[in-house]
Formats: sequence, C-alpha cells, structure tokens
Amino acid sequence: MQEIILSAHIHSVYSDGLLTPPEIAGEAARCGLDVVLMSDHNVFPLGFDGYYDFGRKKVLLLTGEEIHDQTRQPQKNHMLAFGIHQDFSRLAQNPQALIDAIAEAGGLTFLAHAYDPALPMVGESDLSWVDWNIHGFTGLELWNNLSELKIRVGKAWQLALYALLPQFMALEPPAQIRAIWDDFLANGQRVVALGGVDAHTLPQHFGPIQINVFPYRYHFRTIRNHVLLESELSGNAQEDERAIMQALREGHAFISNDMVYSANGFRFCLDTGEKQVEMGGSSVFRGGLALAADIPAAAECRLLCNGKIIDRAHIHGRHRWPVAQPGVYRLECYRRFLGRKRGWIFSNAIAVTP
Ligand SMILES: [Zn+2]
Ligand SMILES: [Zn+2]
Repeated sequence: MQEIILSAHIHSVYSDGLLTPPEIAGEAARCGLDVVLMSDHNVFPLGFDGYYDFGRKKVLLLTGEEIHDQTRQPQKNHMLAFGIHQDFSRLAQNPQALIDAIAEAGGLTFLAHAYDPALPMVGESDLSWVDWNIHGFTGLELWNNLSELKIRVGKAWQLALYALLPQFMALEPPAQIRAIWDDFLANGQRVVALGGVDAHTLPQHFGPIQINVFPYRYHFRTIRNHVLLESELSGNAQEDERAIMQALREGHAFISNDMVYSANGFRFCLDTGEKQVEMGGSSVFRGGLALAADIPAAAECRLLCNGKIIDRAHIHGRHRWPVAQPGVYRLECYRRFLGRKRGWIFSNAIAVTP
C-alpha cells in the first residue's frame, strides 16, 4: 500500500480564501502534502486541476466544491463534493438531489462540519447539518480545523489565543460528530470519515499591522488525511485523481493531527488469516479473526466497537486484538502535545458482519 498525504476542504480567492489555487499548491508543497482538495463555496473554478511542480515536491491540486443553500437562514447543510468536474450548486436546495447527481457523475459527497455551533462574539451562526432525511452520501467530515474554534472558544481571551497560536486549538474531533458517525456505523451504514481543514486565512488588521489568522501553512501541518493507494501515484493527474477518489470512497484512509507527531506508517486492519482487510473494508465474523495496528509513536489507543470503547492500551509499534464478536471497529490514538492530551489519529472503520 502506498500512503499519500492529502488536505481537504480548502477555500481560495474564488470564494472567501486569501490565496489563488496555484499559491495554495505552493504552500502545500512547503508543508510536504501530496494532494490538496479545493472546495470553494458554491463555485467551481475551472482550469486549475493538475500537478504543480516545485522542484523537490510535486502537488496534485483537485477542484471540488462546498455547496449549501444560500437562500436558507441560517445557512446550514454544507456539503463537500470531490471528484466532480462541474458546478453542482444549482441543486443546493435539495440535499438528496445533490447527493444523487454527484454520485451519478462519479463524485463523492461528505457532510461538512455536521456539528458547528454558533459563536456570537464573531457573528457566526450555527451551521450544523440538520437535514438527516438523506442517504447515499460518501461520508462526513469528522474533524474540521476551523469549525473546532466555535467549539473551543468560550471567552474572548481564548479567541485571541487561538487566533495568534492556533496550534493550541486542535484537540480532537467533536464528540457530537463522532456520535453521529458511530450511529451510522452501528446501523450498518457505510460512512467514510474525512478530515477537513476549512482553510481560508483571515487577514486581521491591528493598526498598521496585518496578521493572517489561521494561515494555510498551519492548516496543512495539522489535520491531514493519509490515503492508502494500491500503487504509487503515476504523475498523470486524471489517473491519479481516479485512484485517490476510489480510495476515499472505500475509506482506505485515516485522519491525523500531524502537528502532534507524524502519523506516517499508521496502519489498522483486520487479519482474517488469509488476507488483510484495510480500513473501510468488511468481513464476515468467524473464529480466529484479529484486528492489527501499527502505531508509529507511543500513544494511548482506544479500540471502539459500535461506538463503545472496548479496550484502552498504551501502544508503540504492533498490537493485535482478537475479534470476539461482530461489530464495526475503529481505533483512536491520543498523545500529549503542548501540555494537553490530544486526538492524534482516527482510523476509518472495519465492519465484521454477523
Ligand atoms: Zn462550511
Ligand atoms: Zn468551508
């Protein structure tokens, strides 16, 4: 399996971001990313997809879209669409029609910041997902780097702290979104978890001084998706896009906060004795099954089955858990960083069916 590093949910000058898509690719190259998935609000800028070569590092930029009904108040139900090649915002008023049309076109849909409470001190309203009468979407954004601000900030001083030192903010994906995800999984629905940065970069003026709050570089070093591909990227943008979208669709990926520690090399799979089932996969229950993990640095790991923690262990390196019952299994890893225990790695799920 080839592991690539991908940052998703990025805004550019075509909606409310600070940089152009090529400038964003440059920032991504400096941060060691392989792929960036763009998603401007209700617009699909044409002509930017492809590889950007910065000498020592090449970055594949793929345009997607973040779609919501702009006539709705407040403007809830933000949908991320990737693997698409045209604007779909005309369908924003009907989330199910949007999901169906994007699936028909071969694209992927992720519910963005499904829990996103109001933050009145900066005039931000609650933008949570509310229309749950939907089916057939690819997954949900388990962790949104910008939206976490709305959850962590209670007082004005915290807002100032996180604006200046955002590395203190990213703690873990909201419990509310994890609960939504676990409910879908426990009900047998295949829902892929994606990490999103929601990168904009917000210029703030303090007299003559301009500070770019939450710069792209901060986002690109923090919440990342490590995607596992069957083979190395070929350098052909269309071919590589297909392989990346297929791996995301299947959930062959995990989310990590790489500022805590590099999560390269993390693995979580089901060993059936005959084959290894990757994250996102499933297998029928029988005797002798084991879950196996490789943890690249010492961490507190929590194994969950149907949303309940069934084991907590300090692990560094390889670990195995015999599978005693059917269920949907996923792994969370925590490490200390900047004085606090933080969510570090969140695997996609493996289903063991009855
Ligand atoms: Zn949004
Ligand atoms: Zn966004």
